[in-house]
Amino acid sequence: MNQFLSDLVKKYLPEKHGATASYIPELAKADPDQFAIAVVTCDGKVYQAGNTDHKFTLQSASKPFVYGMALEEHGREFMRSRVGVEPSGEAFNSIVELERHTHRPYNPMINSGAIAVSSFIKDSKNIKRLDRVLGLFSDYTGHAVTVDEAVFLSEKKTAHRNRSIAHLLRHFEIIGDDIEESLDLYFKQCSILVNTTDLATMAATLANGGVQPNSKKVLVKKDHVPDILSLMFTCGMYDSAGEWAYTVGLPAKSGVSGGLLTVVPGKMGIATYSPLIDQQGHSVRGVHAVRDLVTHFNLNMFAN
Ligand code: GLN
Repeated sequence: MNQFLSDLVKKYLPEKHGATASYIPELAKADPDQFAIAVVTCDGKVYQAGNTDHKFTLQSASKPFVYGMALEEHGREFMRSRVGVEPSGEAFNSIVELERHTHRPYNPMINSGAIAVSSFIKDSKNIKRLDRVLGLFSDYTGHAVTVDEAVFLSEKKTAHRNRSIAHLLRHFEIIGDDIEESLDLYFKQCSILVNTTDLATMAATLANGGVQPNSKKVLVKKDHVPDILSLMFTCGMYDSAGEWAYTVGLPAKSGVSGGLLTVVPGKMGIATYSPLIDQQGHSVRGVHAVRDLVTHFNLNMFAN
């Protein structure tokens, strides 16, 4: 496996299509030649190639995990009453992404849904909402995580679109009055730093029914794992979710910083990092590499 992963890095490093995300100015500075792949199996074995220590921000790769946290806290009924489960067929940051009659965001993988989900994570008796989210990702990765303040501030300053989405959500009473605080939480969860092996471990936890492969801690109830994975499958890749389903056949989630996580239920988590992204916001090298890996090892859910 390690050899196969190194061959993939060699094969796709010369691929120069795509561009670093520029609407968050700080992300535009990423080194375009970074490329790493990691696989973590449900029993915790790690395979990797490329610079898997290099850190990047989670961005939208945070969305399935915070959705899981909100599900644990508020239950499926409440979450479904506020956020839908339909693919929108629109870009991740679309403003036209509230359902016509209910005004719910279509799903929690696009920004409107994810901003709503973050607004449902509140301070607990002793722990601030941000610390709760940092604690969640520390549990998933197995070590303390921090926010990249420069990326956070860069997004906060330029987030006119996300701010308008949040106000629309407030208008339709999907979220409450703590609009700026909820946006801050959302921008901060997006700015949490991980490396490629961390991201694969997070994916492996979902592959493993919610149990972190190393600590054996239950991070999300087994019952809620299919809720998360089905949404990653139908909505995780936004307006190319159909193409992804057709060619890869696995739940996945990308982030505009260049991270991509893919879950092979019952088997493993796969993660890639490379910051050149395509029109839909997915890492170009990552998509190629995961597609090759899944084909080579016959991991497509529907082929098994
Ligand atoms: N923080 C980013 C945003 O809200 C996340 C988008 C993404 O990764 N697709 O625009």
